This record gives sequence, C-alpha cells and structure tokens, in this order.
Amino acid sequence: MIQFQYTRATEARMALDAISKDQSSMFIAGGTNLVDLMKRGIVTPERIVDISRLPLNKISYEGKVLKIGSLALNSTVAENKLVQHKHPLLAQALNAGASAQIRNMATVGGNILQRTRCHYFYDTSLPCNKREPGTGCGALEGFNRMHAIFGFSDKCIAVHPSDMSVALLALDATVLVEGSKGQRRIPFGDFHRLPGDKPEIDTNLLPGELILGVEVPDNGFAKNSHYLKVRDRASYAFALVSVAAALQIEKKVIKDARIALGGVAHKPWRLAEAERSLIGKPVSEASFQQAALLAMQGAKGFKHNEFKLKLAPNSIVQALKVASRMV
Ligand SMILES: Cc1cc2nc3c(=O)[nH]c(=O)nc-3n(C[C@H](O)[C@H](O)[C@H](O)COP(=O)(O)OP(=O)(O)OC[C@H]3O[C@@H](n4cnc5c(N)ncnc54)[C@H](O)[C@@H]3O)c2cc1C
Repeated sequence: MIQFQYTRATEARMALDAISKDQSSMFIAGGTNLVDLMKRGIVTPERIVDISRLPLNKISYEGKVLKIGSLALNSTVAENKLVQHKHPLLAQALNAGASAQIRNMATVGGNILQRTRCHYFYDTSLPCNKREPGTGCGALEGFNRMHAIFGFSDKCIAVHPSDMSVALLALDATVLVEGSKGQRRIPFGDFHRLPGDKPEIDTNLLPGELILGVEVPDNGFAKNSHYLKVRDRASYAFALVSVAAALQIEKKVIKDARIALGGVAHKPWRLAEAERSLIGKPVSEASFQQAALLAMQGAKGFKHNEFKLKLAPNSIVQALKVASRMV
C-alpha cells in the first residue's frame, strides 16, 4: 500500500501553507483524475491537500466579467443561468465532457489541470516521457489514433483532453491563481504548454500555485456559438476532434470570430489566422471552407491518426455552420 499524508484546508492560505511543506504535495479537489493517477502509481504525492471545502465555488458577474470559482462543479457551471445566457458555448462544452456523475464531482480547476488520456502515459509498463522523462514516447511509433496533429515534439505527441478548456480558450478567458508571491492572472492561451523537451510539464502554473478561478469577459458571441465534439461514442468518450466556434454576425456578414480545437494538440489549439480570415466575409460555406483550409496549415498526422487531417477541417466547417445557423 502506498502511504500518503492527508491535510484538509478550509481557507486558501492554509492550503498554500500545506502544499509548500514538501515538493511532492498535490491539491485534490473532486479527485476524479488525481485518484485514478494515484491508484495506477502515475503520481505518488507524499501529501495530498484537500481543497474541496475552500469557499471558491461562487459564480458571479461583476464589471462585465463572468467569474467562476475554481471549485465550482462542472455540472453547476453548465446549469448556471448566467453561464447559459452569456456564454452558452461554455455550458455546451462542459455538458459534452465525461458523464453526469463525474461532472457532479469534477471542479473547474481540476478540469483545466486534468492529465492527458494517452494510454502510454497511463500504462506504467510502457515508455512515456511525460510520466517518466527520458524513457521515450511509445505513441510516436505506436498506436497513436487519439494523438496530436499540431504542436507536438519528438518527445511527446499526447493531447490535452479537457472540453471546457477549448471553450475557455475561444472565449478569451483568464485564469486567476495564487501562490507564495501573491496572486496573478494568466491568459488562457498561455496557461497550457506545448511539450517541447519537457512534456512532463503541462502548464505554466508554478509549483504550489492554487487556481482561484477563471474569468470570462463579455463578448458578442452568445447568439452564434457552437461546441462540436466528435468522438467514438455519443457520450462518455474523449474527443477525437472538438471545435469551439463563435461568431458575431451583422446582416449576414461576420464581424468577429473565435475558433479553437480540442483533441489535436498538447494544449487547446486556437486558430487565430482562420479567425481573422472570416472577418468581413459573408456567412457562407465558402468562407468557412477557406477558414478551415487556413486552420490546417502545419498539421501533420501519424500512422493511426491521419484521419484527423480531414476530420478537423470538416468539423470546423460544420461547427461554423451550426454556430451561424446555416444548418
Ligand atoms: C471516465 C472519465 C471520463 C471523462 N471524460 C471527460 C471528457 O469527455 N471531457 C473532459 O473534459 N473531461 C473528462 N473527464 C475528466 C474530468 O473532467 C476530470 O477528471 C475532472 O474535471 C477533474 O476535476 P477534479 O476536481 O476531480 O480534479 P482532481 O482529480 O481533484 O485534480 C486534478 C488535478 O488538478 C489539480 N487541482 C485541482 N484543483 C486545483 C486548484 N484549484 N488549483 C491547483 N491545482 C488543482 C490536482 O492537484 C490534480 O493535479 C473524464 C474523467 C473520467 C474519470
């Protein structure tokens, strides 16, 4: 049996003090990812700091910003009227993830920080640079159907599995964190990392930092947005490809656009050039096809995931069509 210490924190300062006691300490929120990782021996913290009782589950709207506490449950956020009204894309992405039971346990902070679902990462008998740096990437030459087509390195081709993060990226969210040096805000696009030479590090969160919440600014995308998730089963499966698409449309002309992909890279993948290409264009299949073509520049498939090179642009076009109510 693996032994570990358990500390329950009731306020943020207590959690930050407890986590700083030793380097292997980890926060636990809903536990739906961390407990699995501990059971399989993928992570072995000597202390877990239970933050589930911290008062960080509020959802509020202040100064044209939607503020969501890091301990708000995925199901609570998805069902919240403010979220549904202001950012339906976020509610849709949350409801596309996991199962109702898991969404009732899973928190916003934990969702953003969940680890990859790459089976080489989960199987401790196989090589994985993310789990054990220097052992190699089993997926590079192995079974890589779920893996990245953008932003990968020769050390790691895993993808980030969170649906909610794809919507938060498209919605220009910010992550509010607190550590020993105080609070700071991280734009969502800078939160997750590409694998490079250090695939074991998923994010730019510093050791011991606590996520306090996420903030989503007002935007004009509520009327025309859509989260499309393509997966092997209709529910309870991770994305092969997902698309968060949001448009501002006036008199059938696109005024602004946001597109982000999930299931294609080590981090949620924003498509800035494709977004720009849509501005000023009419709402039409041709505009969407052109954006999808631009979106795929630099994409490369592996032996078992080349289908994503077609699936991704097709999904982008479909998501934009639904968002603009063409279909
Ligand atoms: C069977 C199954 C299917 C799933 N399907 C999907 C899916 O389709 N789409 C999807 O998006 N997700 C899916 N998930 C993942 C699920 O959404 C995550 O497990 C969940 O969101 C993690 O939240 P948690 O609160 O349980 O995190 P925990 O397991 O408690 O923690 C996860 C990580 O986050 C850290 N952490 C948690 N909160 C904080 C904080 N506030 N500050 C700093 N660090 C923190 C922990 O230290 C840990 O490293 C699935 C999970 C399972 C088990």
